[in-house]
Amino acid sequence: AKRVYLFNEGSKDDRDLLGGKGANLCEMTTLGLPVPFGFIITAPTCREFFEAGNKLPPLLEQEYRVALDLVEKQMDARFGDPDDPLLFSVRSGAAVSMPGMMNTVLNLGLNDDIAAGLARKTGNPRFAYDCYRRFIQMFADVVMGIDGEQFEHEIERYKTAHGKQNDVEMSAEDWQEIIRVYKGLVNFPEDPFQQLKMAVEAVFLSWHTPRAYVYREMNNIPETLGTAVTVQAMVFGNFGDTSGSGVAFTRNPSNGDPLFFGEFLFNAAGEDVVAGTRTPLPVSALQERLPAVYDELYTTQALLEHHYRDMQDLEFTVQEGRLYMLQTRSGKRTGRASVKIAVDMVREGLITEKEALMRVSPEHVESFLHPMVDPARKTEIVATGLPASPGGATGRIVFSAEEAVEVAAGGDSVILVRRETTPEDIHGMKVAAGILTELGGMTSHAAVVARGMGVCAITGCGALTINYAEGTATTDAGVVMRRGDVITLDGTAGEVMLGDVPKTEASSSDDFQTLLSWADKHRRLKVRANAETPEDAAKALELGAEGIGLCRTEHMFFEADRIDQMRGMILAANREERQHYLDQLLTYQEEDMLALFRVMNGLPVTVRLLDPPLHEFLPHTEDDMAALSQRIGKPVAAIREMTESLQEVNPMLGFRGCRLSIVYPEITEMQVKAIISAAVRATEEGLRPHPEIMIPLVVNVREIRLISKIIDRGIQAVMQEKHVSIPYKIGTMMETPRATLGADRLAAEVEFMSFGTNDLTQMTYGFSRDDVGKFLPQYLEKKLVEQDPFVSLDTRAVGRLMEIAVTESRARKPGIKYGICGEHGGDPLSIQFCHDLGLDYVSCSPFRVPVARIAAAQAKV
Ligand code: PEP
Ligand code: MG
Repeated sequence: AKRVYLFNEGSKDDRDLLGGKGANLCEMTTLGLPVPFGFIITAPTCREFFEAGNKLPPLLEQEYRVALDLVEKQMDARFGDPDDPLLFSVRSGAAVSMPGMMNTVLNLGLNDDIAAGLARKTGNPRFAYDCYRRFIQMFADVVMGIDGEQFEHEIERYKTAHGKQNDVEMSAEDWQEIIRVYKGLVNFPEDPFQQLKMAVEAVFLSWHTPRAYVYREMNNIPETLGTAVTVQAMVFGNFGDTSGSGVAFTRNPSNGDPLFFGEFLFNAAGEDVVAGTRTPLPVSALQERLPAVYDELYTTQALLEHHYRDMQDLEFTVQEGRLYMLQTRSGKRTGRASVKIAVDMVREGLITEKEALMRVSPEHVESFLHPMVDPARKTEIVATGLPASPGGATGRIVFSAEEAVEVAAGGDSVILVRRETTPEDIHGMKVAAGILTELGGMTSHAAVVARGMGVCAITGCGALTINYAEGTATTDAGVVMRRGDVITLDGTAGEVMLGDVPKTEASSSDDFQTLLSWADKHRRLKVRANAETPEDAAKALELGAEGIGLCRTEHMFFEADRIDQMRGMILAANREERQHYLDQLLTYQEEDMLALFRVMNGLPVTVRLLDPPLHEFLPHTEDDMAALSQRIGKPVAAIREMTESLQEVNPMLGFRGCRLSIVYPEITEMQVKAIISAAVRATEEGLRPHPEIMIPLVVNVREIRLISKIIDRGIQAVMQEKHVSIPYKIGTMMETPRATLGADRLAAEVEFMSFGTNDLTQMTYGFSRDDVGKFLPQYLEKKLVEQDPFVSLDTRAVGRLMEIAVTESRARKPGIKYGICGEHGGDPLSIQFCHDLGLDYVSCSPFRVPVARIAAAQAKV
């Protein structure tokens, strides 16, 4: 296959072959823009190079020499010819942009003779020798692996010895002296063709530098892609006062304003602009001093944005009053800018609504919902955990819920740091700006609750050792964080930083609402929320939820004033005692349900029967037991005895879900009575409640039959007593592999099914939800799993079970309603899968609702 392409032989669609940079240079060339000519060695050649044990294909040099001849003709100069020298830049460029990750060599093609020739030809020896020394420095560093420090050191030494302050004072002779010193340090090849060959190899090899590797891993870029090499004729911004280099954006990348925006440095090479050692001027300075160049640049940027139909990030150089375009690509932008630009471009007729939807990522959406750590101002990351709940937060470290409440009451923002959290910590979690736990995964208590509240959280931060007694959290690297210290969490990335790292504000915008309205117009999947309190439900409604897809009733008993009744019920020695607590819980349950029905008037509310992992509710220490004994008036010994008898070896596979209804039908009776009584009261208030009662964690049809009977009986009793008829549905969750494999038979008994993919993932993998923090990071690091399966649905196995369930149940009962309410319901990739599977709705935490609306639209588009 052809391995070398001239700039007039490719187009922007050839990214895989020519890399993003090369493809765009070709496109600009074809558009007739002023691009210094050149050629590209393809990315597949990079793969050949690695496959051959880091050897260039034998015929490659022949092939690029043919291209090089044509570049010489076009540029009217000759590579390796002292009388008329042509120099090259040699750059990497993969199909996906990896800014600054790989190597570049500039001014390639110089040696003593040619530098002298360049001095003669340009009449500017100072310029020529500055180029030459820069070239040696860069070539030695990038191609020969000689530390660049040494060279800078030599320049400093020379300057000190000769009383010079900065580069401007260096004459041609000074640079020649430096070059002599350099040549003593490095034995670099004088032959330009040898230089070129070595540079090409070095660019290929830079695909494997550690930083490039890390970047690819972070951004999910395949290792096999490889990089193309772009070889382009050099133009010089450091030629004098009518020269310079700049970068620009066709619109403002931080706020999206539709204004040309850029920076320019006179008499400077491109690398000087990037290095940030001199402060660039706004491009308007170019308008004052070189108006014709500015006009051409302005027209060019407008043309490029229009041509690419997206905001562009440009690099350009001006040499002696002539403009040259060196790069164009889609510009990186903040979340807010991305939404504004997308919406503006639809209004300008540049793109369609559907295209606008595809331009916005979930992270972009998050910046409208949560404060975010400003990526440009991040400080050193002292520990990394799982990105359990997005957003950024800064506060003082506290180690208990009580402390959190106390410090927060004093007006300070707090970060609650715990080994793990339990329902007892809720009051602390509520007042915390952020939550950090050593243990747990993406679906353990801290993660689920924090996400529900929209509070930033990091879980499974195994690098921490927490000592409650001393009030310290120590990282593996030995950084000690103490009670009261200020830290910042980036819950979107799972990163912990010391001190107060600046964050961007969260607030909605008209453009954001417009984009969401387009999403609603184009999506098929309905979006519901997982919520149990009226506040969360109201938030969900405000963010566009079309109902509640999961009300975890056990969460309704987390509050301090009722958790004791819940515990009393769990620890009851007999039926009477249990009934005593159930009667109390009934009141709470009924009032809560009524509040929820009020908020969600006219919309479906899926209420799940109690499903408490018992270990989350049991007292843990002697102190806990003593305190509980005081509060509920039960002897400590009795509490201890029941607690011990309820201890489970595998709580996540234990006495949970519908198993509770089977052993203690009175719990279900209480719940049904509460739900339907609340619905009756709502109806009497003139509202339209739509309760959907959901049975969790089933494994077979007999469970459903038994429990449905209890539910139906309870419902009929209330309706008959009150003489009101309530529309209701009974459904079940698909959370165990066995349930999915027998879904057709379960479907026959119910009106809806909802995938509980947290448990389904746990049981399919056999990875305990609460313990994955201990080993999953290693699985990810060693690439034993592509992604955390508790974050993004494992389509291969869990997805296969879902597919079987949907297909077989719909074959038996066409059109049966299917949803998902595991945490995956808010994950864009999983939403795509659910769309393809033909589910009716996804349900996620309130703050994920806008993300889900957009993702559902993207899935359809
Ligand atoms: C699930 O298992 O996916 C689910 C929604 O239930 P929970 O997370 O409460 O176990
Ligand atoms: Mg579950």
